[in-house]
Amino acid sequence: MIPRLFPTLPIAVLSATLCFADAEPLWDVHDPERPRPPRVEPLPAGELPSLPPPPGAIVLFDGDSLHHWRPSEWKVKDGILEITPRSGNLVTLESFGSCHLHLEWIVAEPVQGHGQGRGNSGVFLMGRYEVQILDNVDNETYADGMAGALYGQHPPRVDPARPPGEWNRYEIIFRAPRFGPEGDLLRPAKITVLFNGHVVHNNVAFEGLTTHGRRATYRPHPDAAPLMLQDHRDRVQFRNIWIVPLED
Ligand code: MG
Repeated sequence: MIPRLFPTLPIAVLSATLCFADAEPLWDVHDPERPRPPRVEPLPAGELPSLPPPPGAIVLFDGDSLHHWRPSEWKVKDGILEITPRSGNLVTLESFGSCHLHLEWIVAEPVQGHGQGRGNSGVFLMGRYEVQILDNVDNETYADGMAGALYGQHPPRVDPARPPGEWNRYEIIFRAPRFGPEGDLLRPAKITVLFNGHVVHNNVAFEGLTTHGRRATYRPHPDAAPLMLQDHRDRVQFRNIWIVPLED
């Protein structure tokens, strides 16, 4: 049996791959009909403590200094970094490619607004690929714009977000994309994200650079680029940000 079946296997795999590659996406970008992922209880804060940086990590924010970042109007107070709304994004001086990034974020109270205008920020790997930050607890919005979403592309598998006034934790393992000499995409950016202890993306490929309101595509860029935190005009705070560059 094995000799007869074996030769058919690669054809079956190839066929499935081609079908998948040609398939129309199931959902439009920001499709309001797209189901939100199931709500799960985040691990209690006591069981998910702030994670200290491991040896070799670059501590991007330790509660005090912002010397790893370009000058900005973002504020540091009582060991916490806070967006100054409408002052612009916060961008690292250093460039990174593939990495393990840890950060903790909280939507500052009192929270205002609704939909995408409520506790919105984001982690932009390489300044281009966003893991969304949002207060979507008791706040309706499209699934691919929820906290933990690869914005405009993939909702989180589950929704373990904590409400405003409670700290959230992202553990991000990111693999940078690669481009050929003609700018052709050799491999997409891929990401694994743990959100409050739950896996919300497992080695998922970005469809392209994060955009709003249209399907993402790739544009070639260097192998390393600065990390960016988004100012979306809302008061979001951060603590304990560190990054470990990873070899491919
Ligand atoms: Mg955002």
